[in-house]
Amino acid sequence: MNYRSTRNSACQVTAAEAITRGISAEGGLFVPESLPRISPEELASLAGQSYQQKAEFVLSRFLTDFTPEELRACVNGAYTTEKFDSEEISQLAKVGDQTYFLELWHGPTCAFKDMALQLLPYLLTTSARKTAPDEEIVVLVATSGDTGKAALEGFKDVPGTRMLVFYPENGVSAMQKLQMTTQQGENVAVCAIQGNFDDAQSGVKKIFTDPQVLEELARRHQRFSSANSINWGRLVPQIVYYVAAYTSLMEQGEIQPGEEVNVVVPTGNFGNILAAYYAKHMGVPFGKLICASNRNNVLTDFLDTGIYDRNREFYATTSPSMDILISSNLERLLYELCGRDDAVIREWFGQLAEEGVYEVSEEVKEKLADEFWGGFCDDEGAASAIAETFGEYGYLCDPHTAVAVQVYEDYLEATEDPRKTIIASTASPYKFNDTVLAAITDEPVPEDPFAQAEMLARLSGLTPPDSLMALKDRPVRFTGSTAPAGMVDQVKAMLG
Ligand SMILES: *Cc1c(COP(=O)(O)O)cnc(C)c1O
Repeated sequence: MNYRSTRNSACQVTAAEAITRGISAEGGLFVPESLPRISPEELASLAGQSYQQKAEFVLSRFLTDFTPEELRACVNGAYTTEKFDSEEISQLAKVGDQTYFLELWHGPTCAFKDMALQLLPYLLTTSARKTAPDEEIVVLVATSGDTGKAALEGFKDVPGTRMLVFYPENGVSAMQKLQMTTQQGENVAVCAIQGNFDDAQSGVKKIFTDPQVLEELARRHQRFSSANSINWGRLVPQIVYYVAAYTSLMEQGEIQPGEEVNVVVPTGNFGNILAAYYAKHMGVPFGKLICASNRNNVLTDFLDTGIYDRNREFYATTSPSMDILISSNLERLLYELCGRDDAVIREWFGQLAEEGVYEVSEEVKEKLADEFWGGFCDDEGAASAIAETFGEYGYLCDPHTAVAVQVYEDYLEATEDPRKTIIASTASPYKFNDTVLAAITDEPVPEDPFAQAEMLARLSGLTPPDSLMALKDRPVRFTGSTAPAGMVDQVKAMLG
């Protein structure tokens, strides 16, 4: 199986190339040239297998230039019970009669990014051995809060790699910031930027294609790669958990083989929901894909009108990992929906870069309406969803997952769709203690994030994750901060 760039169909590379490069030279994203199919019989036979076995099965369909032994080593290195707090790796929690929370935050950094970023270093180093054996891989990361920590944790002290993470100085929770500024590992660094996630992401994309920087790297036998969801190696592990979740529901007798299940995903960069779309089109019987946004509702408007318009105010919300106005992975979806026409993608994304807006064709609008339903809610809506889910079911969700809960309620009201539904639960509530506490109690909330965690534990009866509580005693290592224009200098400084 080869991969193509969304902006140049003539550019064809192997999976290992796609993963090592991260992004195509002309700025396009790598996509598989066709989607492999999973038959109903294969789905049935996956039911009962371990998460690792399911992962090997899905990955082998996409990474055909990896040997079975290489894939097994990658999967078994990533998904261990040392790193994840249960053998299931991801967990399903049934709440009410027809809703299942797919908890994707049982990894080392307590957000769903671990599902992909524990595996990515293995995929990337295996890929680099095939395509660039003598080069050091320099991974640049722009984070809206969770990717940064998950990437740092995945790549710390991985030989042959270096990493620099940029996060928005005032755009992450106290716990998220501490997670990054106290990161250990000799090959990693972290820098705040005086801007938002979109500034960080645009800055990184620009550095990736800066000829002067690239020349300097080549001289040093280094090359860039990406740990953001623009890297195919981030997306393919995310397809795994949707296949795993569906087959787990079959295993548990919750659904009949072939039964359609909706999926609700709290969305920012469109990576997680795109993985659900891919799983559906490989043969997993998913119904509607419900795209839940916070007040930065550029995707809701896009799904309603077919016009993507980023020229709008940016809001800092209580679900910071979704505070994004440029959803990169939408490009991959639109490439599929417009019949894999790279000229069309170049036109739309050229307009986005120049004017901040583009409009898709009528045909694409119809396809979008067929597959997706979009909704959004503000911070108050998310807070009341946290309170109601906790009050009614004793189930505590984080503010991102709460956005999905609220939008799903709106969806049910609008459609009365009776199908069972998976809600992607993307972070531990303990990463966002202050918001969760404010939603469930009138008691005064302490300032200190660890005192907050203890209070949340007392009120909810849920044990706080050890990995978060351990941050209390870690020294802060990274205090640097830069304007977006200074990012390139930070990169040069890191290179030495
Ligand atoms: C990253 C993130 C999201 C958004 O996921 P995308 O793949 O960017 O759409 C949602 N919730 C949490 C907690 C996240 O960390």
